[in-house]
Amino acid sequence: MVKPAELDILAVAAHPDDIEITCGGLLIKMVKKGYAVGALDLTRGEMGSYGDEDDRDAEADAAARLMGLAYRGNLALKDAGVEVSQENKLKLAAVIRETRPQLVVLPHWEQRHPDHRACHRLGYDACFLSGLKKIDIEGEPHRPRKIIYVTYFRNADYSFLVDISDEFEQKCAAVAAYKSQFDDPETARRIFQPGIDIFEFMRVRARQLGQLAGVQYAEAYTVKEHILIDDPLLMPISSM
Ligand SMILES: [Zn+2]
Repeated sequence: MVKPAELDILAVAAHPDDIEITCGGLLIKMVKKGYAVGALDLTRGEMGSYGDEDDRDAEADAAARLMGLAYRGNLALKDAGVEVSQENKLKLAAVIRETRPQLVVLPHWEQRHPDHRACHRLGYDACFLSGLKKIDIEGEPHRPRKIIYVTYFRNADYSFLVDISDEFEQKCAAVAAYKSQFDDPETARRIFQPGIDIFEFMRVRARQLGQLAGVQYAEAYTVKEHILIDDPLLMPISSM
């Protein structure tokens, strides 16, 4: 996919389809608002039980088109063996410098899958290192202004919700583009978590989060900083 000079938003995740499942709704929403949005997968998913790397590459491109992404890259790190090494941090930092996002979406730090946890640490450190003038990476220094964290892990603390009611079906279509993983209902019930259908999981979870915000569907995000409010009277979501 053609790489634009600059992105507004870059989402980073360990495996093709992680981004769609976790923050697909937000990315689609931001594309609709006119922002240049990109996705970077750290691995090609070669350890998955179904489909090979070429299948996953083609599916990731198809999903990117369905979401309207301006860029999708892959660092081709070792699936099920993503290491938090300086070498990998610099590889990721090089993409940050090339794409120059203002907002980066990373996996939340609490994770069941070691690759997701590694991606969190690599992503944070790469955003920092990319801003250092003297570090040995191509391109001009760049540090994203904001990092937000997303997860499908069951127990996470959330800072804010994003209404994705108008984007939810498109998000499901992007996940369904991973045909090798989710086309066959039996396979789909095994891949994500045994016995759990990914589409039913996404719908129930987005609906539950939506109910907390008084909308149909929502995604939840965490930030490490506080959220600054100018006028509490205008805060959405009523207290009673
Ligand atoms: Zn994953």
